[in-house]
Amino acid sequence: MKTSYFSRLLLFAVVFSVGFLSIGCGEQSSSSEGADSSAERRAWAIAIHGGAGHFGEEDLSDAEQKAYQASLSNALQRGEEMLSSGAGGVDVVEAVIRLLEDDSLFNAGRGAVFTAEGVQELDASIADGASRNCGAVTGVRGFKHPISVARSVMDSSEHVFFSGHGAGEFASSMGHEPASNEWFWTKKAFDRYERAKSKSQKEEDALANKRGTVGCVVLDKSGHLAAGTSTGGMTYKRHGRIGDSPVIGAGTWADDRTCAISATGWGEYFIRTGVAQDVHARMLYGKQLLGRACRGAIFDEMGSLGGDGGVVGVDAQGSIALVCNSAGMFRAWATPEERGVAMFGATLEGTVEVH
Ligand code: ASP
Repeated sequence: MKTSYFSRLLLFAVVFSVGFLSIGCGEQSSSSEGADSSAERRAWAIAIHGGAGHFGEEDLSDAEQKAYQASLSNALQRGEEMLSSGAGGVDVVEAVIRLLEDDSLFNAGRGAVFTAEGVQELDASIADGASRNCGAVTGVRGFKHPISVARSVMDSSEHVFFSGHGAGEFASSMGHEPASNEWFWTKKAFDRYERAKSKSQKEEDALANKRGTVGCVVLDKSGHLAAGTSTGGMTYKRHGRIGDSPVIGAGTWADDRTCAISATGWGEYFIRTGVAQDVHARMLYGKQLLGRACRGAIFDEMGSLGGDGGVVGVDAQGSIALVCNSAGMFRAWATPEERGVAMFGATLEGTVEVH
C-alpha cells in the first residue's frame, strides 16, 4: 500500500542540528534566541549535502550506502584540508563542489538527471559572504563544472545570473572545460528518465523524490562565509524550467553577518518561500540562531506549503545546522573538533540530533 505523500512527510519529519546549538532551537526561550555574538568563533567549519529525498535505509543497498559515505567523506576531507591550511571560503566551496560534480553518484555535473528532452541542463550558484557578491548560471549545457562557471560570473562579469545559450557563450569565453554528452550520461539517470517517460504524473512525482543536488557551505579561517549549490534539477523537467539551486536567496546565500546556506529539495517550493534568504532574514532581523532560523524556513514556511527538502548552514561563529523535512539528506560536516557523515534520519518524527 502506498503511503500518501503528506503522511510520509509528517512521519519522517526530521531535524538535524550540530555545532554550538546545544538544544533544538525551537525549545529555546525567546530571551536566549538572539544571535550569540559573544560566542567564541570556531577556526573553521564546513557542511556539505548531496541531495535530500524520501529515501530510507531500506532504499539503498549496503554497497550504495558505502559508496555515498565514501564520496561524501572524500569531498569533506578536501574541504577540511583546504580550510585548515587557510584557504578562502569561496575557493573551498568551488573545489568541493567540483569534486561532487565529477562524481556520478550525484545529480550535478556528471550523473545529472535528464530533462524531458533527454539532455542535461545544469544549474549552479555561488555566493561570497564577505563581499555579498554572487554568481549563477541556469540551463547550461556541455560544461563540466557549472559551479566554476558561476564563480566566473561572480568574479569576472558585471552581472550575477546567466541563462542557457548566453551562459554557454560566457563559459566558452572564460575558457571553461567543455564536456560531451557521454561525460554526463549515467545509467542511473537514464533509467530514471526512461521510467519517468512511461509513468503517470503522480508516479513521476514519486520518482522526483530521489534527487542528488550538491551543495557546500563554509566558514573560513579569516571569518568569511561562502556557499554554493550545483544540480541537474529534477528528472524530466521541462525545457527551460529553473529550480531553486541557481536562484540566489532561494537555493544559495552567504552573508558574513549571518550565515551561509545551500538548499536541496523540491525547487519550486524553495523559490516560493525564498528559503535561503528567509534563514538569513530570521537571523539578521529576528535575531534567531542558525538552527532555529533553518527550522522556521524549512518547517514553518517551505514545508507548510507542501514542499520537501532541506538546507545545510554555517554561521559566523562556526555553528552548523543540517535541517530537512524529508526522510533522508546526504550530508557531512566538519569543524576542527569533529566530523560526521549521515544519510538518514536517526529517528522518526521531528527530533533533534545534537553533536
Ligand atoms: N532543488 C533542486 C531543483 O529543484 C533539486 C534538488 O535539490 O534535488 O532543481
